[in-house]
Amino acid sequence: MAAKTRLRLAIQKSGRLSDDSLELLKRSGLRIRKRRDRFIAHCDALPIDVLFVRDDDIPGLVMDDVVDLGIVGRNVLREAALGRKSAAGSGAFRELENLDFGNCRVSIAVPDDTSYDGPHSLASKRIATSYPRLLESYLSGKGVTFQTCDLNGAVEIAPRAGLADAICDIVSTGVTLEANGLREVETIFESTAVLVRTARHLSDEQEDLVRKLLTRFRGVISARESKYIMLHAPKSRLDEIVAILPGAEDPTILSLSSSPDKVAVHVVSRENLFWETMEELQKLGATSILVLPIEKMLA
Ligand code: ATP
Ligand code: ZN
Repeated sequence: MAAKTRLRLAIQKSGRLSDDSLELLKRSGLRIRKRRDRFIAHCDALPIDVLFVRDDDIPGLVMDDVVDLGIVGRNVLREAALGRKSAAGSGAFRELENLDFGNCRVSIAVPDDTSYDGPHSLASKRIATSYPRLLESYLSGKGVTFQTCDLNGAVEIAPRAGLADAICDIVSTGVTLEANGLREVETIFESTAVLVRTARHLSDEQEDLVRKLLTRFRGVISARESKYIMLHAPKSRLDEIVAILPGAEDPTILSLSSSPDKVAVHVVSRENLFWETMEELQKLGATSILVLPIEKMLA
């Protein structure tokens, strides 16, 4: 059989990771022609096929070698991996990169009026969760045994409905917990979206493509946080000005023909420039301060 050359990448069809996943692909030069009802789409520029599925299916698709790559929350990936381990299945995958979106945490919460002074307060309690293995792994590490109530949705209403004493679920802002009379007492897992790949060795062409994709993803991620900063600085205060520019180890200094006592300073900054710093720069005599977004970066 001829060596495979195309790569298959699974992303969430519709949900919290979908827009950011598609945006990352687009910024990485993977234009996909997707018809609305289609489950699979082909990229124009690279031999990559994108599959649109439920996020919970992504770890299994990667671990079973149905797809080569996936973009999924670490929370879902870890839960699935723990499941495979206990079922002694294959379960081989490699996490390639933190993609810096889909930030959330998996936490334990108890009703507002319940006292809590550490994990042992949960001993023998019934905890509703969609993450039974993450929870088991966390609480057994603390020597606490509990009863489980596995739910795939509406976890936060379980205590009020009399189904459980506590919950363990995804929290991002805490608003949903508050609305349900719950308070967060323990963070058991911090998550972001990750790029995951099969642990199997791919064909040389596919391995090259994975490397290329990863380099482009990293380029997009570092560009997202970086800014290009330009300003005019009086030569007499140049050192002070450069000293307060974030991440400006290596500024470009250019002379200005119209004003000999000033120079132009250009800097690629790894972080944003806040208004406070801009105001300080202005106090030091900097003028024409511009902060520009960077679209792509390749070291
Ligand atoms: P599906 O229909 O694909 O099964 P779902 O309802 O299980 O979707 P979503 O709510 O879309 O899942 O969340 C998908 C993932 O996004 C979560 O597993 C988590 O990694 C991340 N996530 C969840 N909530 C947030 C949030 N508030 N902010 C950012 N990321 C989140
Ligand atoms: Zn899901």
